[in-house]
Amino acid sequence: MTTMYKGLHSLYRAIRSFLTVQGYSPLSEHREPLPQGSLSYYREMMFRYNLALLVSFISINIVVNAYAQRWLLLGIEICIALIGVQSINAKIRGGRALATPILYVSLVSLLAIYALYTIGPRDLPWIFFCLPMVHFLLRRTAAWVMSLLIVLALAHFSLSHFSLNNTFVILQVAVGISLLMAWFVYILEKQDTALRRMAVVDHLTGAYNRRQFESDMARSRAQLERYGTPTSLLMLDLDYFKSINDEFGHDAGDRVLRRIAKLIESSTRAVDGLYRIGGEEFALILPNTQLQPAMAIAENIRSLIEGADIISDHPITASFGVAELHPQESYKKVIKRCDEALYTAKAEGRNRVVRLNAEELSG
Ligand code: GH3
Ligand code: MG
Ligand code: MG
Repeated sequence: MTTMYKGLHSLYRAIRSFLTVQGYSPLSEHREPLPQGSLSYYREMMFRYNLALLVSFISINIVVNAYAQRWLLLGIEICIALIGVQSINAKIRGGRALATPILYVSLVSLLAIYALYTIGPRDLPWIFFCLPMVHFLLRRTAAWVMSLLIVLALAHFSLSHFSLNNTFVILQVAVGISLLMAWFVYILEKQDTALRRMAVVDHLTGAYNRRQFESDMARSRAQLERYGTPTSLLMLDLDYFKSINDEFGHDAGDRVLRRIAKLIESSTRAVDGLYRIGGEEFALILPNTQLQPAMAIAENIRSLIEGADIISDHPITASFGVAELHPQESYKKVIKRCDEALYTAKAEGRNRVVRLNAEELSG
């Protein structure tokens, strides 16, 4: 009894771990973890549900076809079921799955068409099972090629088995399912793009947020190490910003933040990333830029902000820290160093640019 319970329990755990997507995207060329909630995450989840469903359905059909002595169909089904079982096992244990969505969906769709021709109209509903799967799991071009193939096969089969009227209805439904599903996936892709953007962009200023800042700093640091690409970091904090809020109100403060972000963005290159890393604190990552040019860029932005007529008769200024990424330093250290320079700029009277070299900090 306990052995049976243990067996059932480990089966339950295996199914649960199979259906919980923790691994890596088979749809992505890069083996990066799937962000929970992203479309790729749900595609992988759907793929796993499909694998489980198809392996169970096909296993039943194997018994039926063995009984009916349909040997070729039986052989194909056994192959597909084995690939499915191997893939489920690989996904549970973390190995390499033979089935990719394109391979598995294509195989199953071709099997459905073949079954239609060998068994007859009884297997027609399987075609309608394949169409949504094709659009949800395959990339757009592959999905359209596959669904066109399915519809053509369906047209050919229906014309030789049903009246023209019936063929028309069957094709109408097949094309309808394809179009609806393609539209549904298109909406999901749009939503996915919007969500990804929302996750990395600050909604007030449109600059990237702190999360993106850290990840871009880590990437710049890696590029410096691998390719020797120099990169500089510039951090700025508006001076006496609290007094702007106190004097003109919070909404005016928000407008100032938006204007400052626009001003910086319009005066920098498209490759320079602007980030809002605190309430009234911004950062710029300047790729392919050494310390001296970065200082000049900071000085230019400083004078632009000082000269901009954002609130009439109330000049707004900012203090700047500048640092260049160093191969011997983690990106967090560079941020700390730049912050230190910014702090010095504040202490020395604000509205100025200060750099702090790596040697100065360690010395
Ligand atoms: P310092 O020159 O030393 O930087 O002085 P400061 O007043 O700029 O700095 P402090 O840190 O004392 O105040 C920052 C202020 O920024 C306080 C906070 O109310 C304001 N702030 C932070 N985020 C926002 C925001 O999103 N909108 C507005 N309007 N104000 C904000
Ligand atoms: Mg400030
Ligand atoms: Mg601040």
